[in-house]
Amino acid sequence: MMNVILFGAPGSGKGTQSLKIAKEFDLMHISTGDVLRKEISDGTGLGQIAKDYINKGQLVPDDLIVDMLAKVLDTRKESKGVIFDGFPRTLTQAESLEKILNARKTSVSLLIDLQVVETELVSRLLERGKLSGRSDDNLETIQSRLAVYHKQTAPVTDYYKKTGKYVAIQGTGSIDEIFARIRSVLAKLS
Ligand code: AMP
Repeated sequence: MMNVILFGAPGSGKGTQSLKIAKEFDLMHISTGDVLRKEISDGTGLGQIAKDYINKGQLVPDDLIVDMLAKVLDTRKESKGVIFDGFPRTLTQAESLEKILNARKTSVSLLIDLQVVETELVSRLLERGKLSGRSDDNLETIQSRLAVYHKQTAPVTDYYKKTGKYVAIQGTGSIDEIFARIRSVLAKLS
């Protein structure tokens, strides 16, 4: 199985590129942010808890996210693997992912780190906010999401660097240019 983590700061293009990767390489796309937004719109208990964290730009607690992820993973049907978008976001989540995948006789193949400078992240997110209607695409929440990213999420890369499963990719340029860079890395894996 090919299990790829698409990693990067908020606004780095994970969502856009994950959809393209899923299609090209026949992978199941799991976006924990999308799953949480669906829980909120369905009015579930998890959605109600998650809403406050999301609106403040904070991370939803690890135990809730890890349980949710394991359940979603078990709905996988025919696919060559999984593209993880927005997960793992903490070291605890990275460790849990390894256990979850090992229990299913598989493992993470590669983490791709989409790199974009901070000023561009902010302008992309503000631009997206005009259309997305997302409650967290406003300047105040964007700033806390970026702070959380630097403090809690960026260290996750060390975990994968240690095992040689880390690749950094320049996340600027057109959507197709960025995808071409990702595709050439993944083509070597599949
Ligand atoms: P995203 O759509 O990936 O930008 O996620 C939107 C928000 O959902 C984040 O700011 C967090 O509040 C929450 N969220 C998404 N994925 C995770 C995760 N893996 N761990 C904790 N919180 C998450």
